[in-house]
Amino acid sequence: MSEYTDIHRVLLTYIRSCKYIYHHELLETFQTIYTNLSGESPHEEPLQQLNKYLADINSRISPHGFKIERKNNELTGELCYIFINTVGDDIIKQNTLYSPPELDTIKQIIDDIVEAPEYKFSLGKVNVQQKIANSLNKTLKEASNLVDRLIDDGWFEVTLDDRMTLSIKTIAELKDYLIDRHGSSTNEGKILICQQCKEIVTLGCKHEDYFFHFKCYDVYCRNNNIEPDQDFQRIGPENV
Ligand SMILES: [Zn+2]
Repeated sequence: MSEYTDIHRVLLTYIRSCKYIYHHELLETFQTIYTNLSGESPHEEPLQQLNKYLADINSRISPHGFKIERKNNELTGELCYIFINTVGDDIIKQNTLYSPPELDTIKQIIDDIVEAPEYKFSLGKVNVQQKIANSLNKTLKEASNLVDRLIDDGWFEVTLDDRMTLSIKTIAELKDYLIDRHGSSTNEGKILICQQCKEIVTLGCKHEDYFFHFKCYDVYCRNNNIEPDQDFQRIGPENV
């Protein structure tokens, strides 16, 4: 591994501080960090250089159970980078920011989102608050504060219609947990796997018996010389 420099450290700190970062943003920020700290512009192709820095950082942090993961945004298909925890078989349980009953609640919300009928992969925020108030014996105000905290901490995202969905970070971090717990669509389980990219689908479309991200469906049709079928079942909530 090449020398671990301030550029690595600042880059890692920046990525950790974001729930996720789009590729174009990270590339831009990387060039700024590089120029500010080294006093010169990147001397190679910036993307190549960024990838080298990320590889260095990943080999440095992976023994400690962390990773900078690459994952496509399910709606736009754009590449994102996410700092995730990779250690252990129960990442949720190891999280020390929450009490055990709160951690059980997080699991319950995740289960309910996965099990939402008609592939909605989402829950009304108000319903979640109500359920938490009941199960944890909290006031509605306290329950609402907890839900906001879970969203701020990056477990969930909220749609324009106030529906809670799994965040890109949760899907990346808990991929194995989700498939172990709910099974994958390749084995008639609840976690849907994209026919094209083989990643989890919580936002996309179902064509016949296959699941796709929207962009992946276009690619699949092009690759297989299929006329895109306008008749499909939506996966995930509207108005994301
Ligand atoms: Zn896909």
